[in-house]
Amino acid sequence: MSLSLDSTQLDRYSRHIILEEIGPEGQSALLESRVLIVGAGGLGAPVIQYLAAAGVGTLGIVDDDAVERSNLQRQVIHGDGDVGRPKVDSAADFVADRNPDVTVEPHERRITPENADSIIDDYDLVVDGSDNFPTRYLLNDACRIEGIPLVNGAVYKFEGQATTLVPDGPCYRCLFPEAPDPGTVPDCATTGVLGALPGTIGCMQATEVVKLLADIGDPLVGTLLSYDAMDLAVERVPYQQSPDCPVCGEDGIDSVAEVEYGDGCGIDEPATNA
Ligand SMILES: [Zn+2]
Repeated sequence: MSLSLDSTQLDRYSRHIILEEIGPEGQSALLESRVLIVGAGGLGAPVIQYLAAAGVGTLGIVDDDAVERSNLQRQVIHGDGDVGRPKVDSAADFVADRNPDVTVEPHERRITPENADSIIDDYDLVVDGSDNFPTRYLLNDACRIEGIPLVNGAVYKFEGQATTLVPDGPCYRCLFPEAPDPGTVPDCATTGVLGALPGTIGCMQATEVVKLLADIGDPLVGTLLSYDAMDLAVERVPYQQSPDCPVCGEDGIDSVAEVEYGDGCGIDEPATNA
């Protein structure tokens, strides 16, 4: 059933393989897996680092930005010499250098309601490393409709959060029915962010991915993990599926193509609210 691992792979992944919970079968599952990472920035960087090192065989990377010098304080896969290059190219070079077992599929574009299905449906799992609410809601909706697990993460100044959304669990809209009012949660460029914070949250997301792919442990399903870097405190907040959820509830939508991901990212918003 499992791929035969060659001698180089037995060596490279030996610390995984000797773990009873992973073993050669779990490592082979990682090598056969296809994971899409949306955003090659603060969260995406550690996700890409650790999934590449872990030997997740195919990493799709979605990003339409170029590397800026102000990114380098936290986006650790990009180097000084990468400033001005597309992030997907810089990320692909990083992965090639890290692990030749891993194939990168670069998607140099923004994910939109029009292209979301065609991008994500080729992957086993999606990681949200985006930095805005419309993308977060779009990924939730599209992954739920396609039946693809989604590992969510977010950071703000000194605080971060993570949760895992699986097809038969509650979704992001069950947790947060509406996005905060526009302007009330400014982005990193406006407020600043502690450089190591997305490293912490991104590593949690990478951990969730490996657990899901190797089918071990208890994923953060129905649980929001909230982390405060100032006092290194972690809180676990349970949440449940909402029967009225416009996506995973009984009358949930079956396509994102018609949804207007405007300010509130809501399903019921009029289409003029862009
Ligand atoms: Zn829901």
